[in-house]
Amino acid sequence: MPSIVYAGVKYTQTRHAIQCKKCLETIESKYIHDLKYCTCGAVGIDGGISDGNRILGNQSDIEDRSMYCAIVGKKKIWLPHHMESYQRFV
Ligand SMILES: [Zn+2]
Repeated sequence: MPSIVYAGVKYTQTRHAIQCKKCLETIESKYIHDLKYCTCGAVGIDGGISDGNRILGNQSDIEDRSMYCAIVGKKKIWLPHHMESYQRFV
């Protein structure tokens, strides 16, 4: 599963989703061959939460709605959203 290391903690992706800034639709890819486009067709998403999952379209049209989670001790912690976008588009 895709993961991000932030501040020494490994976060695993639990949701692969984006919002289109043009039509404001949120789309989510739930499994590996689940390719979806938003209503206006500007952005798409594919691959579910498997490795190599993809986001299609221009970064400027995309608002990341993915979720990353880590278990530390017995607590579930969520990755801050700005970090996630930063890592995914570098
Ligand atoms: Zn759209």
